[in-house]
Amino acid sequence: MDARFDAFCSSLALSAPQVKCLKDEIAESATGPHSHGSGLELACRAAEMALGPDRVDTSPLNNIVAHKTWSQACTASPYCIIQPASAADVTKAIRIFRHFDVHFAVRSGGHSPNPGASSIDANGILLDLQHMNAISLSQDKSIASLGPGGRWGDVLEALTPQGVDVVGGRIPVVGVSGLILGGGLHHLMAELGTAADNVDNFEVVLADGTVVSANAKENDDLFWALKGGGPNFGVVTRFDVHAIPARKIWYEMRVYAVDDLAAVLDAHATWQNSGASDTKSTASLIMTPDAITAVLQYSAPVERPEAFAPFYNLEPLQLAVPSTIGTFQSLATILGSVTPNQPMRHDYRATSSRIDARLYEDVYRFWRTRALAVRDETGANQTFVIQPVVPNVAKQGIAREATQWVSQRRIIFMGVPKGWTTLIDWTDPKDDEKVRSVSIETTEQWKKLGQERSLHIPFLFMNDASRDQNSLATYGVGNIARLKEISLKYDPTQLFQKRQNGGFLLSKV
Ligand SMILES: Cc1cc2nc3c(=O)[nH]c(=O)nc-3n(C[C@H](O)[C@H](O)[C@H](O)COP(=O)(O)OP(=O)(O)OC[C@H]3O[C@@H](n4cnc5c(N)ncnc54)[C@H](O)[C@@H]3O)c2cc1C
Repeated sequence: MDARFDAFCSSLALSAPQVKCLKDEIAESATGPHSHGSGLELACRAAEMALGPDRVDTSPLNNIVAHKTWSQACTASPYCIIQPASAADVTKAIRIFRHFDVHFAVRSGGHSPNPGASSIDANGILLDLQHMNAISLSQDKSIASLGPGGRWGDVLEALTPQGVDVVGGRIPVVGVSGLILGGGLHHLMAELGTAADNVDNFEVVLADGTVVSANAKENDDLFWALKGGGPNFGVVTRFDVHAIPARKIWYEMRVYAVDDLAAVLDAHATWQNSGASDTKSTASLIMTPDAITAVLQYSAPVERPEAFAPFYNLEPLQLAVPSTIGTFQSLATILGSVTPNQPMRHDYRATSSRIDARLYEDVYRFWRTRALAVRDETGANQTFVIQPVVPNVAKQGIAREATQWVSQRRIIFMGVPKGWTTLIDWTDPKDDEKVRSVSIETTEQWKKLGQERSLHIPFLFMNDASRDQNSLATYGVGNIARLKEISLKYDPTQLFQKRQNGGFLLSKV
């Protein structure tokens, strides 16, 4: 036991009896603190002492928290779970991970369906941020401060009654952190940029446990990196995001028969090529093997806005949601109600292409045949989602550099007119490979046809990318070099690359 250990104990503000107790436990540990089991045990004991026993669950096998990932494919029981209440607690946890050299995973809303991203088994410790979920608004209502463990439904619930909106998540159950750190697509993105573009300041705990701010004036390189750079640089402990006066908005959901596929895709492509220049309009297509739902949203209280004219000539089978003047919160409630929340296995998968109705149609037909066959065999539900990323999304990210909402050069979305994602839900682990093969083959088909027709875009959106898709690798060589430089500057020992269990890590690029 040496000066390093004393400095470590003092950085955790351990009392003299606690230091003695920890020393004794280390001495008793037959294999020493750096071996597998004992290192984890000692790390969990140190966390209990430093954060208090209520903040550390040492029997997660029986604890429901261990299972609170959206996808059952991610369920794992960590050696222990640390649930910090503050940035100071996160600092202590990170120092403990470092000192005992243990593996860890960081969880916000647990909505990544990629195993290991925000889950870890008994070989490591889970840092579960769910109690850091405070939401507050500055006095002038221009900045909302969001705890990293909150969910977008809580954000809407807290802010809508106070008369403000933020660019964030569209589905209530999704976590605040993962969505922003991956970029963050929202109904307002064509007008205001992505969720990440709308962050004014990140509070971050770095690998050495220091708490720093990253904004346009302080640590501006880290500020840039966190806007789409994922879990590579530290644990974000607060997001200060720009708030805008709450909008009344219009929306309608029109359900079409698969027989109308070509006409609906033509209408969507026409909207993308013309109507989307009205940046208040967004139109997404949620397609199952049985029907196509057009989600039309306009960020102002205008009934049947002109931007969606291409859809009005197409008679829907039914209106799943009739023409409604509402709020982003009321829309989120509707979208949340059609999102699978029951315990199941889930996956998603991303690709991008230029706008072309015939490409969409050919890939949909390819996907549908396979999705139907696999549904017959396994009961898996699959959804084919076209979400437009209009040019103004990227322009907004760049434009903000010149405004008082200073933003840095954007990492992502340069020239991505359309993102495709699929959502898949199934129950039996033995069907994993079969079910996932549909989306894997479909992304290959997007690429093949896209390349043949000069429509392919290699970008893979992190927030929709599956476990085997290397999202960061599609950010461009220059951006990756810069992100790696920033990672080395703020994390010289590369704790987040070497000891973080999973997620989209720069070390894998
Ligand atoms: C039903 C559903 C709807 C969705 N809708 C949207 C949408 O509208 N727009 C959109 O852009 N995306 C959307 N997504 C994708 C979503 O943004 C990603 O799945 C995201 O990773 C989820 O965030 P989370 O915090 O819940 O995830 P988690 O699984 O908790 O975390 C995801 C990653 O972030 C890391 N992480 C978490 N917290 C922190 C932190 N504080 N500091 C550093 N790293 C951290 C984790 O370690 C992990 O690698 C949706 C996903 C689902 C399942």
